[in-house]
Amino acid sequence: MIEEKTAICFIDHKRHMEIDGRYLKDLEPAIRNLIKGDYPNAKVTDFICDHDLLKYQLMRVDGMVNADVKQTRKINRRLTKAMQSDDYDIVDVNDNLAKSLTFGQRVSDAVARFGGSWGFIFVFSLVLVAWMLINGLQLFGVHFDPFPFILLNLGLSCIAAIQAPIIMMSQNRAADRDRMNSENDYHVNLKSEHELRILHAKLDNLTQNQLPHSLEIQKLEIEILGQIRTELDLIQRSQPGNVKSNLDESETRNIENSSENKG
Ligand SMILES: [Zn+2]
Repeated sequence: MIEEKTAICFIDHKRHMEIDGRYLKDLEPAIRNLIKGDYPNAKVTDFICDHDLLKYQLMRVDGMVNADVKQTRKINRRLTKAMQSDDYDIVDVNDNLAKSLTFGQRVSDAVARFGGSWGFIFVFSLVLVAWMLINGLQLFGVHFDPFPFILLNLGLSCIAAIQAPIIMMSQNRAADRDRMNSENDYHVNLKSEHELRILHAKLDNLTQNQLPHSLEIQKLEIEILGQIRTELDLIQRSQPGNVKSNLDESETRNIENSSENKG
């Protein structure tokens, strides 16, 4: 028979085989700190049996899960707060402007639209040419505005004088529309930026805390499974010899079955 080393658990002061426990120096710092919280005098060379260690491993898992849940809640609260604090209603610019339009503004828009088109240039050119031809060549015997067309000049000056403020009115309304649009954009951008920040925080929390935690929890699970295995072995060892071989056989069968199921 192989001689196995033994050690005394510093909690229950019983003698255990070394494979049935761990030395504090071999434990994760977080678990060691939990143990030191309960037993401040514990030294790194002390031995703890699996049975007592299990309590601290579960405490550690609990701690990590709680910390993650707390952090996630905190971030979600920030998100909710940000959503509630944003009470800006996006303005429907076109609808808003269309409703507030007065008759004068409608006219100024129409005039500005026509005044700024090729159609206006063609029509106006035709009128000018016709005016000059009629008065210059005295077609149909009419010459109400002889060369150098002073009446035409007066008319053009009047049109220019009236057209300028009309175009300015229309431009003011275009500026209003731009201002509303940019105000909308500003608020949407602000909201997006805020949400993006929170999303970053979530992602950071996921990669920096939750993922390492879940890996650590997996590791602890494997450790605990190992301990269960060791304890099973212990039970088998204390039974008559054939029990162990029976258990081993059924275990092998189980593994075969599960691998078949997977396949
Ligand atoms: Zn113990």
